Amino acid sequence: MAARLIDGRAHAARLRETVRARVEAIRAAGQRAPALAVVLVGAEPASEVYVRSKTRACAEAGITALEHRLPESTPEADLLDLVVRLNADPGVDGILVQLPLPPHMDAGAVIAAIDPAKDVDGFHPENAGRLASGLAGFVPCTPLGCLRLIEDTIGRIAGLDALVIGRSTIVGRPMASLLLNRSATVTIAHSQTRNLAALARRADILVAAVGRPEMVRGDWIRPGACVIDVGINRRTLPDGRSRLVGDVAFAEAAEVAGAITPVPGGVGPMTIACLLENTVRAAERTP
Ligand code: NAD
Repeated sequence: MAARLIDGRAHAARLRETVRARVEAIRAAGQRAPALAVVLVGAEPASEVYVRSKTRACAEAGITALEHRLPESTPEADLLDLVVRLNADPGVDGILVQLPLPPHMDAGAVIAAIDPAKDVDGFHPENAGRLASGLAGFVPCTPLGCLRLIEDTIGRIAGLDALVIGRSTIVGRPMASLLLNRSATVTIAHSQTRNLAALARRADILVAAVGRPEMVRGDWIRPGACVIDVGINRRTLPDGRSRLVGDVAFAEAAEVAGAITPVPGGVGPMTIACLLENTVRAAERTP
């Protein structure tokens, strides 16, 4: 393997340590601990796992996690009422509504109801617009974590060619904005893109956020490129066991890339660390 391994767990541990220090400074100034309201509707197993790990990470950082669990059948109006109450509650700094929501709910309407100043997921259209405009605001945690990994690995981004594969509002679009705001030359690829391999071969920075196991092959990688693999896909092995793989064929890509994130242990740990950082920022009132 030629590439440097980008150790997301180690980066995340360092970031969580700085968050803990900021929480201690808030407490030392006589204020209450930062508080994150975590809203879970229904009992989808994957969402349960995410909420548990977010709550645990909050506790470790000294952040109070206030869980609100609502049954799957909750009317949308009741969820909107809860969001309005949390917006008005001075004891709540950040609000996170775990997605996906049940099919009878309009996730866009629920997100739009969150006070942008408490929108630690960065999904509110006002925060999305601020990011797209190059203004300060809350930035979605996964692309923010990717940016941190890229900057810590290669330093200056300005002038480099970046390819972001995927255009979701949660990962691809905000990732492209973050890189553009750092003066990279950014290409966004998606399901209709032609000649994806050729575009990838030009990229100094390649971020894959697609959800297709090992789609990005080793011969797509520009030698020395920084490769960030956001994908989390479960692949069943011939013996029936399963393992997580990314959107990048890791072993092949690692022979060519300059640096690469593993799956798991790359982007994933940074996502939660950035959520903690956004929450402490909300508590400091300096978004
Ligand atoms: P999504 O399904 O919303 O978006 C996928 C994007 O990939 C779309 O924009 C689509 O146009 C594009 N796409 C689909 N097929 C393509 C193709 N053949 N060529 C090029 N582009 C193609 O997914 P998402 O929410 O952005 O998540 C992407 C992946 O990242 C998933 O595997 C998800 O599990 C993972 N993810 C990981 C984290 C983390 O913390 N590590 C967080 C969020 C998402």
